[in-house]
Amino acid sequence: MLRLLPLLLLATAITSAVAAPRCDRLLVGGTVHLPDGPQRLEVAVAEGRIVALVPPSEAKAWRAAAAEVVELAGAHVYPGLTEGHGHFVGYGAALEQVDLVGTASFAEIVTRVKAAANTLPAGSWVLGRGWDQNDWPDKALPAHAALTAAVPDRPALLRRVDGHAVLLNARALAEAGITVASPDPAGGRILRDASGAPTGVLVDAAADLVERILPRPTAADIERRVLLAGRTLASFGLTSIHDAGTSRAELTVLRGLERDGRLPVRVYAILDGGDDELLAAEFGNGPWLSRGGMLAVRAVKLYADGALGSRGAALSAPYSDEPGSRGLDVTTSARLADVIRRAAKAGFQPCVHAIGDAAVTRTLDIYEQVLGAGSTLRPRIEHAQIVRPEDVPRFAKLGVIAAVQPTHCTSDMPWAPRRLGAERTPWAYRWRSLLAAGARLELGSDVPVESPDPRLGMWAAVTRRPPEGTAEPGWNLPEALTRAEAIAGFTAWPAYAAFEEGWRGAIAPALAADFTIVDRSLGDGDPATILQARVLRTIVAGRDAFVAGGTR
Ligand SMILES: [Zn+2]
Repeated sequence: MLRLLPLLLLATAITSAVAAPRCDRLLVGGTVHLPDGPQRLEVAVAEGRIVALVPPSEAKAWRAAAAEVVELAGAHVYPGLTEGHGHFVGYGAALEQVDLVGTASFAEIVTRVKAAANTLPAGSWVLGRGWDQNDWPDKALPAHAALTAAVPDRPALLRRVDGHAVLLNARALAEAGITVASPDPAGGRILRDASGAPTGVLVDAAADLVERILPRPTAADIERRVLLAGRTLASFGLTSIHDAGTSRAELTVLRGLERDGRLPVRVYAILDGGDDELLAAEFGNGPWLSRGGMLAVRAVKLYADGALGSRGAALSAPYSDEPGSRGLDVTTSARLADVIRRAAKAGFQPCVHAIGDAAVTRTLDIYEQVLGAGSTLRPRIEHAQIVRPEDVPRFAKLGVIAAVQPTHCTSDMPWAPRRLGAERTPWAYRWRSLLAAGARLELGSDVPVESPDPRLGMWAAVTRRPPEGTAEPGWNLPEALTRAEAIAGFTAWPAYAAFEEGWRGAIAPALAADFTIVDRSLGDGDPATILQARVLRTIVAGRDAFVAGGTR
C-alpha cells in the first residue's frame, strides 16, 4: 500500500502543549538536525515513527513515560542516510569474494587470487572483484597468462571495479566455450592479442558468455548476501538503499525477509528491466510499498550504455584516447521506449543507466517522446556522468532526476580527462550546472563499484578531491556541492527520488524514525570533519540496525 502523509498534518504533532504520551524510545541529549537547522531536542519514537520533538525543558514527563531512554551524550542526529544507487545483493556477493580493490599491480592480484583459490573446494569457481588497471604502473588491460599459471586447475573470474569488464583464466575461458573463433556478441567485445586469441578480458555484453554458466545463486545464497550487505550498510550509517536492478529471485527473497521483519535496512527495489516476466508480474500488481515501508517496488532499471573506464560509455564523438571507439549502446532505443511506455502505464518510475553524453541525450530524447515534459513519474538517469551543455536544462524541463555518485568523480578524475579530451572534460560530473538549471539530484555510491561509506560520498561531493589528498583546489571545483547539499543528497533528495518525501528523509513528527547518529556535525568546520565523523548508531524504523561497539 502507498502511504503518503500530507505535510500539513505534521505540524499538529509538534510538542509543547501536547500531554506526554508513552513512547517506545526517547533519544536524549543529542543535537537534532531539523530541516531548518540543528536544535537541542529529545526525540520520542513509537511504532517506528517520530511521535514528538521535545525541548529539554519539557522532557521530564517524557523521560518518565518512555519505555527506553537512549542517552546520546552530545551526539548529532541526522535523518537516516540513504544510498541512492547501489547493488544490494551484488554488494553482499562482493563482500564474500576476493577483494581486489586498491591492488597496486596485476602481480598482486594473481597472488591474492592464488591464496584465495587454495582455500576453496576443488572445482569451485574463484570469484574476485574490484581490479582497476588504471591503478597499476602498466595501465594496459591485463591478459590471462599469469593468472592461468597461478590458478590452472579451476575457473577464475575477476570483475573489473566498474563491473563492465571481466578477466578469466584459461579454465574459465574453456568452460565458457570462448576460443579464437568466437565472434564478439552484440554490445560486447572479446579482447584479443596480436594472434587473435582471447586475452581473457570480456567487455560489457561479452561477459554474459561466462556469467550465464556460473552456478546460479540459491535463495539461501541471496538471503545470506542481503543480510551481510544490510548489516554492513547499517554500519556505515545507511538506513536505506535504492537497489539498482533487483532480479526476480532477489525480489522473492526480499519479500520473504520483509514479511518476517528481518530486513536490516529499507530497500527501494528498482526492478531488472531485462526480465519481461518480472516486469509483467510487477506492472500487473502496480506500485507497492510494504506496510512498514521497509520494501518498495515501483521502479524499473534499464541500461542505455556501459561505463567510462572500460570505454563502454556511449560518446557522441570518439574517445580521445581511442579514436576508433565511441562506446556501446547496450539497449536499443526501441526496447528502452517500449519498457518505459509499459512502466508509465503501470505507474512505475523508469531509471535508465546513462554515462556517456550520447547515452544521456538518447535517454532524454526517449523520455521526452514517451513521457513528455514535467512527468510525474520522476524518471531518473542513473550516473549522468557526461552531459552536453544543451542537455543540462532538459533535466529540469522533463522532470528528470540525476542519480549521481560523487566518488565516481574522485575515482575517475586521474584518467577521465584522457578518455574525454579538453572540450568534454568540463561536461563530466557537472552537479552544480544541473542544480543551477533547476534539476533535482540524489547521491549514492554505486556500491560495490565504490565503497558505500556516505562520508566518502559527502567528502567527494564538496571537495572533488580524493580523501588521501591531492593538490587543491579539487577537480573542476565550481561543480562541487555545498555541505548542506551533500547531506540533503543522502537524505531528502533520495527520499524525493523514491517518492518518500511524505514519510521519510527528514526529522519531523509523524515521519519514519530513521536516524544516523554521528559523533560530530557533518555540516560545518573543515570538510575533513566529514571523514573524521564516527557513526555511533543507525536506527531504522525506531530499531537499532547498528550500534558502535555493540554486538549486532
Ligand atoms: Zn549501478
